[in-house]
Amino acid sequence: MQKVVFNIVNFSKNRNLFDSANAAPVFRVGTEGNWSRIAARHIFYYRSQAHGDRFILSFVHIFRSIDRTEFAYCIPYSYTKLQKFLMQLESRHLPFFKRNPLTETVQRRRVDLLTISSTNEFATEKQKVVFVSARVHPGETPSSYVLQGFIEFLVSDDIRAVNLRSTYTFKIVPMLNPDGVYLGNYRCSLMGFDLNRQWQDPSVWAHPTILATKNLLMQYNENPRVELCFCIDLHSHSQQTNSFLIGNLVSKDPKRCQQQLYIPYLLAELTDDYSLQYTQFNVDAEKAGTNRRTMGAILDEDCLCYTLEVSFFSYRPKDNLNDKSIPYFDYTYEFLGENLAIAILYYDEVLSNERKIEIKRTFESFLPKRSKKSFKQVRNKGIGSLDCVQAYQITLPDFQ
Ligand SMILES: [Zn+2]
Repeated sequence: MQKVVFNIVNFSKNRNLFDSANAAPVFRVGTEGNWSRIAARHIFYYRSQAHGDRFILSFVHIFRSIDRTEFAYCIPYSYTKLQKFLMQLESRHLPFFKRNPLTETVQRRRVDLLTISSTNEFATEKQKVVFVSARVHPGETPSSYVLQGFIEFLVSDDIRAVNLRSTYTFKIVPMLNPDGVYLGNYRCSLMGFDLNRQWQDPSVWAHPTILATKNLLMQYNENPRVELCFCIDLHSHSQQTNSFLIGNLVSKDPKRCQQQLYIPYLLAELTDDYSLQYTQFNVDAEKAGTNRRTMGAILDEDCLCYTLEVSFFSYRPKDNLNDKSIPYFDYTYEFLGENLAIAILYYDEVLSNERKIEIKRTFESFLPKRSKKSFKQVRNKGIGSLDCVQAYQITLPDFQ
């Protein structure tokens, strides 16, 4: 038995969950076992003058055997793991599952496009399409577990999955930045770009995966036989607990604004880890160029664009932020993905009045403080939807 203290230097983030006992790196003994969290009492996060006032993460680990032990910031999910998962799915020859190459990365890795649907391609009615993507930020491994849970549920025999497949066509790009994932980058692509700031003007040579995905979304948007219902990009958050959605301010229509709250409220009903308190709608300047902001402005107003964030670390059940936080594991992330799929089914039932949903808060109450006044002014003036966003932006100090 040997006790070792690890010191990882040069952390730059002032705010971090490591210093509030909500966060813990993971480890596993052997190469096949389950990942465990390091106990919170063994973790220390502090500023160091000796390291340029940056932060040090220290943790203690007791080695109880000579077996190989692996440590990670969060539970890994590699490019290889995704390819194996997709190959397994393909080998089942499910009639409602298709896997096609969408494009290649700069280093010529395959980018997959999955289609899950039991609707007839030649049906005359409009196809309702749900688009989901993940891993534009390669370090955000929890988002891949959420997506895996989402996909596994969609292809299952559960009656709700059967209904989902006949109601919607799911189009999924499970990994938007395979080069970054392969290289072990936290946020960037091979060439050092944050690909989630390139959606406005993606380049064919530097951001081919973003360009191909944007073109695909534009095609759906322009196709008269397609009704694009959702565009959801999955991410992970290092500074917040729980899971939560971030949406746009694309409409002054109160009914439309209210509809944007259906999925958050349904998720809050379905899963303990979803936080309505962290849910918000914004047009913050630093988020321009993200999938949510760019596609939210370009796509038909009826398509709801969200970013789904899930904590790298832990959640406080049922939004009770005074409670002790519970660590996330791969299966809790997968469960969130399953519930996201169910929420999308229930959304359709709410729209067709088969299901009731009680929304206790106003849409405005989900706006950050800095935005509320401006949003009300714009709404009272009765400006049209896209003008609404532009006029709204001008009133924000961020845009001066
Ligand atoms: Zn992200």
